[in-house]
Amino acid sequence: MKQAILVVDMLNEFVTGSISNERALATIEPNAKLLDAARKAGVPVIFCNDSHVKGVDHEFKLWGEHAVAGTKGAEVIPQLNVCEGDYIVPKRRYSGFFQTNLDMLLRELGVDTLIITGLWIHLCVRQTTVDGFCHGYNIVMPKDATNAFTQEEYDYSIQFLVDACKAEITDVDTIIASWNK
Ligand code: ZN
Repeated sequence: MKQAILVVDMLNEFVTGSISNERALATIEPNAKLLDAARKAGVPVIFCNDSHVKGVDHEFKLWGEHAVAGTKGAEVIPQLNVCEGDYIVPKRRYSGFFQTNLDMLLRELGVDTLIITGLWIHLCVRQTTVDGFCHGYNIVMPKDATNAFTQEEYDYSIQFLVDACKAEITDVDTIIASWNK
């Protein structure tokens, strides 16, 4: 098994900006802890970041202008300390796979299992997870490193990802412990 971490949209826009919600705050510390441990364990860290084109992006019709490429909103939150060995995959739609280089990168890294975190589990995380499953990857979901706008959306999304993607639901501490065995 070769794992990688996909960190979806842990950006200023989603944690403190126009698509934020206080439920994002609970995901910061678990993500920071997981990424630090991953870097030490040699597990690749891949950020899948909204990076929209000003003025024209299709998603703006639904969400308004957000996470425009080159702005503060499109940057990973400072608490996650993007490091030199991390990878960044910009995206313009919900899914980290849609018209990006993500699948090619994962194959080059020899990855077969995706640990998926970030925001929001009922939107971009969900679409990235479905596409990851469709591309043939195993899915691991640390339930404390993601969230939704509401508890209902969170609960439904977790169940959906189990049913539709055979997601293994776990938590950050259990994943870190498995690396330290
Ligand atoms: Zn977007």
